[in-house]
Amino acid sequence: MAETFPPSPFAAPIEQVKAEALTCPKCRLAQTRTNVVWADGNLDSELLFIGEAPGHHEDKQGIPFVGAAGQLLDKLLAEIGLDRTKAAIVNVIKCRPPGNRDPQQDEIDACRPYLEAQLAHMKPTVIVTLGNFATRFILEQQIGITRARGRKYQIWGATVIPTFHPAAALRGGSFGGISTMDALRQDMAMVKEVLDEAAAAPIPEPDPAEPESFDQLGLF
Ligand code: SF4
Repeated sequence: MAETFPPSPFAAPIEQVKAEALTCPKCRLAQTRTNVVWADGNLDSELLFIGEAPGHHEDKQGIPFVGAAGQLLDKLLAEIGLDRTKAAIVNVIKCRPPGNRDPQQDEIDACRPYLEAQLAHMKPTVIVTLGNFATRFILEQQIGITRARGRKYQIWGATVIPTFHPAAALRGGSFGGISTMDALRQDMAMVKEVLDEAAAAPIPEPDPAEPESFDQLGLF
């Protein structure tokens, strides 16, 4: 397991990567999308939510999580004292699959570099994967969300907290004696706990022997 985030597949800064993504032709979804849905919130924050793919409203507005699921996510954020200025929200793929079908593997593969660039830029303290697709992307295993959730995973120095997609909670249902909504709330409480612990941790002293990063040297 890598200790730090892999470097961005792009040499360009994130705003240039975004500009490239906004006209991306790399998979079939470019033919049917209205807008590329890049991100919302704060890509310089400590907390990253990763969903699956844009839906109807997201495609129309070019903003992730603006429908009912987005409103629920905002409510859950507010319950732990946060809002979209304190978190970034992205999807595994940036264009809407027609009819809200599942993303196909070749679409995920084509879009992968954009999410990798967002991860490399943010290096978030906490990554919350919403649903199966984001969880499998980050954990790199074919695990279902019902099995994956309720635990924390350490990846690239970040804490990964898989949970249900808010749309699943809106559909209702329960598993193992707990409702999907309550499970989502439990997982959000874990997010707050990890963020609070990180905020309380002492800031490490810079190592004087450590050379400047390549980024700082402007080599990339
Ligand atoms: S889904 Fe990703 S790879 Fe496909 S066209 Fe949209 S931005 Fe490009």
